[in-house]
Amino acid sequence: MNSNIPMRNEKVCFICGAPHSGSTLLGLILGSHSHCFYAGETNKIKFLHLENAHKDTTCKICGKDCPIWRDFYIDDIKDLYKQLSLRTQKPIIIDSTKNISWLEKQIINLKKKLVRSYLIYLFRDGRGVINSRLRKYKTSDPSQVIDDWIIHIKKTNQIFENFQGEKMKIQYKNFALNPKKTVKSLTNLLNIEFEPSMLKFYQYEHHPLGGNIGTQSLIIKAQQEKSSNTPIKLSERNKYYYKDHPLQIKYDQRWKKELDPAILKLFNEKARDFNKKLLKDEKYKKKKI
Ligand SMILES: [Zn+2]
Repeated sequence: MNSNIPMRNEKVCFICGAPHSGSTLLGLILGSHSHCFYAGETNKIKFLHLENAHKDTTCKICGKDCPIWRDFYIDDIKDLYKQLSLRTQKPIIIDSTKNISWLEKQIINLKKKLVRSYLIYLFRDGRGVINSRLRKYKTSDPSQVIDDWIIHIKKTNQIFENFQGEKMKIQYKNFALNPKKTVKSLTNLLNIEFEPSMLKFYQYEHHPLGGNIGTQSLIIKAQQEKSSNTPIKLSERNKYYYKDHPLQIKYDQRWKKELDPAILKLFNEKARDFNKKLLKDEKYKKKKI
């Protein structure tokens, strides 16, 4: 990586949707392309360099010694993607921030700067999302978690409908069961060559802010097996290993076994039809160039 050679930020690709829908995995795969850098959830940059204030104060893989983020300071947030392209020498930045107002601001800003932006909407069966959320935050009120999910999906639907650029809606299930097909359609959307080794995302160097630590732990696991010269610093992250998880992509349907029947009943009362409608919806829009 040589930051003396200027690299222009040509494209920014956003992955939106509800948390726990597979965006970390998709980001890591796209970020394994030779032209792309996966920045993680860039709205977490507000926590960068803060001492012990938040779990997302630095790169989720390397920790404080990250070659990308350790001395990354920015005066104007409007230059974020430009600075990331310079730093990483990659013309395409992938951002999986879920926060709607952050996304809106970035999209407007990129339009002003004449940088092409893309929007991928990754959605998943709400029952899977709720189950993952409740597994992570055990004391949450299930009713509130369901309501929050509905609100977030409605807002995300709106931003997707209003987005003027090239965009694609994909279902987590289809992505997890047939990642090659999904990723090929995404590289087509982004106008870049499909690189088959992208699917082996765990072989590459990554520096995401925020995101799912379980998925990220696969990188640490793979690189520890591969070599002791890994750029990834192994630390207390070890305890997060998915012990029995294969390195390749696995369709997570744990909700079918784990979700409490009373919560499932509540979900059906609040959101059954809403969820059905969401799962039917898969769209692809590519502009003719
Ligand atoms: Zn890093």
